Amino acid sequence: MERATIRVDGVVQSVGFRPFVYRTATDLGLRGTVRNLGDAGVRIELEGEAAEVDAFLDRLHEEPPPLARVDTVEIEREVVDTAAFGPFEILDSADEGGNGGGSIPPDTAICEACLTDMRDPDSRYHDYWATACVDCGPRFTVVEGLPYDRPTTSMAAFPMCEDCRDEYESPADRRYHAQAIACPQCGPTLRYGSVDGAEEAAPEPPDTGRDPFPEALSRGADGPGAVRAAAGTLADGGLVVVKGVGGAHLVCDATDPAAVERLRERTGRSAKPFAVLVPDVDAAARLAHLSETEREALASPRRPILLVEARDGSPVAAGVAPGLHTVGVMCAYTGVHHLLFDHLDGPLVCTSANLPGRPMLVENGAIVDGLADVADGFLLHDRRIVARCDDSVARVVDGGHRLVRRSRGFAPTPVDLPGGDGRALALGPELDVTPTVLADGDCYLTQYVGDVDDLATFDYLRDGVDHLLSVTGLDRPPVVAHDAHPDFQTTDHARRLEREAGLERVAVQHHHAHAASVLAEHDRDAAIAVTVDGVGYGPDGTVWGGEVLDATRTDYERVAGLAPMAMPGGDRATRHPGRMLAGGLFAHPGHDAESVREVLRAHDVPFPSAEERDLVCQQLDSGVNTPETTSAGRFLDAVSALLGICSERTYEGEPAMRLEAVAADGTPLDIDPPRTTVDGRPALDMPRFLVELADRRADGAARADLAATTQEALALGLGDLAVAAADRRGRDAVALSGGVAYNEHIACRLRERVADAGLAFLANEQVPQGDGGVAYGQAAVAAARHDGDR
Ligand SMILES: [Zn+2]
Ligand SMILES: [Zn+2]
Repeated sequence: MERATIRVDGVVQSVGFRPFVYRTATDLGLRGTVRNLGDAGVRIELEGEAAEVDAFLDRLHEEPPPLARVDTVEIEREVVDTAAFGPFEILDSADEGGNGGGSIPPDTAICEACLTDMRDPDSRYHDYWATACVDCGPRFTVVEGLPYDRPTTSMAAFPMCEDCRDEYESPADRRYHAQAIACPQCGPTLRYGSVDGAEEAAPEPPDTGRDPFPEALSRGADGPGAVRAAAGTLADGGLVVVKGVGGAHLVCDATDPAAVERLRERTGRSAKPFAVLVPDVDAAARLAHLSETEREALASPRRPILLVEARDGSPVAAGVAPGLHTVGVMCAYTGVHHLLFDHLDGPLVCTSANLPGRPMLVENGAIVDGLADVADGFLLHDRRIVARCDDSVARVVDGGHRLVRRSRGFAPTPVDLPGGDGRALALGPELDVTPTVLADGDCYLTQYVGDVDDLATFDYLRDGVDHLLSVTGLDRPPVVAHDAHPDFQTTDHARRLEREAGLERVAVQHHHAHAASVLAEHDRDAAIAVTVDGVGYGPDGTVWGGEVLDATRTDYERVAGLAPMAMPGGDRATRHPGRMLAGGLFAHPGHDAESVREVLRAHDVPFPSAEERDLVCQQLDSGVNTPETTSAGRFLDAVSALLGICSERTYEGEPAMRLEAVAADGTPLDIDPPRTTVDGRPALDMPRFLVELADRRADGAARADLAATTQEALALGLGDLAVAAADRRGRDAVALSGGVAYNEHIACRLRERVADAGLAFLANEQVPQGDGGVAYGQAAVAAARHDGDR
């Protein structure tokens, strides 16, 4: 007979790990115990035949619960004569100390077993939208803090009925210690209603710990009737707010052009693509071409919005993603979604419900108040959302999984940061912010916070960091890393933390952070990094964004990149691509203000008015408020304007995304990217390339071909610069990061060029390539610099 002591570390708490151990051990006839060790994982004591212990270990590795992640297993085995244990049992949790970092799991999609319960007329969970078990349901969004137990969640406001209590307490049950357990008897209520006429002030609700339904909401129906009523409104072309796991969504029939148009009008979102919700992967395949990798991503319990290539003849209305060849698709992940699809065939638009520029709405009162003029109906529940959490967004680029936004389904699961000793808070840049807390090699990313440029979003950033610290049990770190931009809100906040809380401040250049994020993910110390994005503050005071860096974790040197273009009007040039085109042409020595005006006129480049166009040219001549930029994003904007693809940017990245859609139908022409030298560094001459494109366009070249040529030239040009730099500097790898790296053609061609040269190609896989991954890179730099100081 053998006795084995096994310690398992990883994501093994609150994920049904102990019940899994109990079932497996009992099944194999093993005696012993299992116990949570707080931050130190789980300890299992086993006693029985050696063969059974082996079988147990196999199953531990091969079939852990879906939400669990087994990182390390330490085993001590000994032969014994006498039995010390009785029948297998689950012991109470023990807190054996540690530095925090206990992992609350992320929110995940309703599991197959719970879905089956919900469909089963004989189940007590029949038609109940909020059923959950240890394998599924809300976690991060309902937890107040550690320890993860019913009283520390927003489910505490719903005392368990006897049946739920029974299941909660039986180790063999799937809902054993499932903190979100709930049934129609005791759980949260789903209600459908609308706002009609009489607007009376809502009386202050009693503090029950629930999220009260506002008085202004007429009581249409509860429970299954609420779903039916909401589905009826949707079928009639109405707009319905659906409160979900991490916040509220605005929903309408995605196949109804008039409904989609109404949604755009009422929310003032003129062109920003909407995500589409479908029941399952097969339904997604009717809308879009899906690779096997894409099917897997869509079906994963994380359920991101996946950007995929739309099918011709898809039933989705063109207004859902105007001018794009991709569509964001997401599979149903809550009971409510599945119940809605019982009544509706078509895909649904499902987009975050928020006031312009504000974070997603989470409280019933604020939802009804804020969207009374937008929505025709409200499908709400009274479970409080403790932490807001937007949907995650991903795209498969060049065959690899890339995150655009890391949020629901991921937060607060840490990402490894090899070599990242010490502790630091990294705030990220200003847009697409996802703050990060580093704790000795583990990087905890908050949920997606977004653009931190006003008070409401800044409060969200602070709340997000506080919530992260409370659900991980981590102490406030002694170091704060931030973007080197002097005027960002986040930089201000870092200075405040330095002043008021004595944190050590580390400023990190934007593109160095991008580069370091790739190095850290791949456990490398150095590489040539191609960092391509919209805007980043350069230490020379210009706007960077098309850089080839020789980067280490602690430092970087700008060794090549794009030649600068002028940005007449500064920030205005990011909104009006025509300005970027003017600035790019003007930077060519063969042009002056007058000849630029001629080109703009000849190509009929749209400006708000002819007067504005002339003013822009005068501005170029005078140089007033005309910073320089090397941004790859701004260069793509300029081409987008030249080819008449996009005349005004209404959302981040729009001109480049529309350009990619046009390029998808084109074939690159044989135009080599022109070379030049800037301050002694090799550079791609983007101004000259623009002049050449304009000439080809004047000669009648097809728009799609010119768009494809642009992507090809940028990819191969930057690839060549990177390969040459690697040769000069003795590096064996090229890293790619930044928002432009989501472009399929650019990423693919650049990777090919690097691989052809025999160099390793590295890209972000765990954190976003865009600005959502910058905080992780800042943390990597802060840790490395600190390491060097010691
Ligand atoms: Zn379940
Ligand atoms: Zn119950």
